[in-house]
Amino acid sequence: MPDRVCVRGRFAPSPTGELHLGNVWTALLAWLHARQHSGAFVLRVEDLDLDRSRPGMAERQLADLRWLGLDWDEGPDRGGAAGPYVQSQRTARYSAALEALATRGLLYPCYCTRAEVRTAASAPHGPLERGSYPGTCRYLTDEQRQEHESRGRRPCLRVRMPERPGVIGFDDLVYGAVEEAIVGPAADFVVRRADGVYAYQLAVVVDDGAMGITHVIRGADLLSSTAQQIWLHRLLGYAPPRFAHVPLLLGEDRHRLSKRHASLSVTHLRAAGAAPQQIVGALAHTAGMLPEGETAMPADLIGRLDLGRLPRGGIVIRDA
Ligand code: GLU
Repeated sequence: MPDRVCVRGRFAPSPTGELHLGNVWTALLAWLHARQHSGAFVLRVEDLDLDRSRPGMAERQLADLRWLGLDWDEGPDRGGAAGPYVQSQRTARYSAALEALATRGLLYPCYCTRAEVRTAASAPHGPLERGSYPGTCRYLTDEQRQEHESRGRRPCLRVRMPERPGVIGFDDLVYGAVEEAIVGPAADFVVRRADGVYAYQLAVVVDDGAMGITHVIRGADLLSSTAQQIWLHRLLGYAPPRFAHVPLLLGEDRHRLSKRHASLSVTHLRAAGAAPQQIVGALAHTAGMLPEGETAMPADLIGRLDLGRLPRGGIVIRDA
């Protein structure tokens, strides 16, 4: 059966540092997937965390992507019907989504500090997995809330997940069938931080939903956020997109590529004399699209990506 869905893919970098090979890897795979389905590609800047976002960095990231031969149909520099394409300009939408959740009684203020959540979640013999929420503030009385407020504690907002055992299943285009239990309070996630910043989990769903994204192709580090995102998509009235979580590129230290691996930033590779064709060719080889040592521009690779054949574990990149 031909795929009749009009594919809309996206790349959504956070302007917190130079783009590195790991970002380019995700961008290239997402771009190829959209292009080989004759789909549209959207570029969205995720700059809600103003403390971590660096001025001018989004423009540099976009320039690096263009230099590598990637393009997009909608984005901050091109506009489009689903804009604006910069999250800091979309806060009214996140506020409206919070309003919709509040109206349904699905939000509660949480006064726990990160350290408190960590300590409770990792307590010996505790039933909770590390990193999950112990539920401390879910059942606070009005008096208890007022007591926190009177001590000057500012709450974050958490969403109240269903208490019945609920399982969200999805068919990941790389990982296959994934099932995740999302049961409150352990899965109650933050939608607005205590400093007022809208959380990634909320903004990404509102944006992917409102922008009509049909395919989210991103790093495997986000696999564990996906069930909650699907739940939120449905709640806000969006059809959840399909997901493909691609393997992470790792440095020789076996850590996922990040700002620490400065020699693998696009800026550094470019200054060292690498051509876009070499960078793209090496990534294409990693994805099984080209023999080792061959060079290519992204457009040469359209039709060669098979997400189902990507490895599922991390891939170590030699820093040569
Ligand atoms: N801005 C996020 C990041 O750079 C994107 C996450 C996503 O693709 O959903 O990690």
